[in-house]
Amino acid sequence: MSTIGPQSATTEKAHQYGDEVRYEFFKVVQDYVDAAANVVNLEPWVAAILSQPKNELITHFPVKMDDGTIRIFKGYRIQHSNVLGPYKGGIRYHESVSLDDLKALAAMMTWKCALMRIPFGGGKGGIKFNPRDVSRAELQRITRRFTHALGGNIGPEYDIPAPDVGTNAQTMAWVMDTYMNTVGHVEKQAVKGVVTGKPVTSGGTLGREKATGQGLVHCIVEWARDHNFDLEGSTFTVQGFGNVGSNASVLLARLGSSCVAVGDHTGYLYNPEGFNAHKLQDWVQAKGAIAGYPGGKIITREEFFATKADMFLPCALENQVGAAEAKVLDVRVVGEGANGPLNPEGEKLCLEKGIDILPDVLANSGGVTVSYYEWVQNKRSESWTLEEVDARLEAAMRRAYREVTAFAREKHCTLRVAAYALALQRIEAVYRDREIFP
Ligand code: NAD
Repeated sequence: MSTIGPQSATTEKAHQYGDEVRYEFFKVVQDYVDAAANVVNLEPWVAAILSQPKNELITHFPVKMDDGTIRIFKGYRIQHSNVLGPYKGGIRYHESVSLDDLKALAAMMTWKCALMRIPFGGGKGGIKFNPRDVSRAELQRITRRFTHALGGNIGPEYDIPAPDVGTNAQTMAWVMDTYMNTVGHVEKQAVKGVVTGKPVTSGGTLGREKATGQGLVHCIVEWARDHNFDLEGSTFTVQGFGNVGSNASVLLARLGSSCVAVGDHTGYLYNPEGFNAHKLQDWVQAKGAIAGYPGGKIITREEFFATKADMFLPCALENQVGAAEAKVLDVRVVGEGANGPLNPEGEKLCLEKGIDILPDVLANSGGVTVSYYEWVQNKRSESWTLEEVDARLEAAMRRAYREVTAFAREKHCTLRVAAYALALQRIEAVYRDREIFP
């Protein structure tokens, strides 16, 4: 039996890039936008509008902690674009949350919704703290107080949060309940759609919990079909074993693929026989991390990235795969469950090595797609069966995958640039119709 000790996420980021170098995630995303804009000859005025978020909200709010002290928290909500529909995007609780990262993530939501033909715009929010450092009661008070601070800046027809790193269905239940109790009795029941990713018992949809992992697996299945690759008997490695990583792993295991290495904020484990993804998921749900899971050999982060497998699924944070990691990666395809896990040097090196990349904007869009189904059900007071949700998601992912790969082939660009370009074209078409007010 092996155990692994704690390893801080911030240490890891610093280790990769040096303490003094800040990773400019928003600039990285903007560079992808520029590359895609070139391919589709995007109108410069549309490019200019989309080059910055529409609103950047920062709030400092007090919370009474269990020991009676008052702590001030810093919360953000970035609203990038609402030209296609209400702002939409997750809420992240993590000690590394920053304005720059959230601007990048909010913009990516805009591209994702446009690519998936979902009538939503892009947003993202978060609070800069480590949710593992506080009690459940404190977590609830932090969430409710943040929701209250956001006030009318969120709403089912205006800006709709969802879970992201460090938040889950429970967090969404607290956000929804707080919001419902501040809008007044008459409206209370009509505003359930203020968040998605809620527990099913509180108006969530079946299939949302696994939706992002499921969408990623649909993309991998399509990729495998395109490359005559047999998933049965294949292997994969996964970084991040939270919502996205664990669900993708369980679903891939059902297709006969085995997870030979796994890592999270507590460290990395290797098992050439393959981990039981179900059991590991149960373990993480009970203990909060993979640390202490029996049946795997502890390996270093470097050894994890060098592990030979057919597929690598980065499902943790942005900027995890740079030149050093890409140099040792020994896989055929990377499926980006996380947002921005490869930095530009990492991506360049992977492509030079012939590793295919299924880009985040496409590969992890299953989450927001099913969030949209949840919002529609809330609006109509309906509850769809799991089969219906699954079938719709599969069709949506397959269509998007086909559109992106066809575009990339036609324009001789990467799948990432193709995904961005399709999104930009769709947004540009709306601006052409409507122009700007006044
Ligand atoms: P989560 O909080 O459920 O899981 C995050 C995982 O990442 C955990 O296993 C954690 O231990 C690991 N992690 C954190 N810091 C790490 C580090 N420094 N090194 C290695 N592992 C680390 O979050 P999630 O919802 O699964 O989100 C993961 C990624 O997927 C994020 O990039 C998020 O933006 C993206 N995403 C999530 C959804 C969704 O529906 N939840 C949708 C689209 C994209």
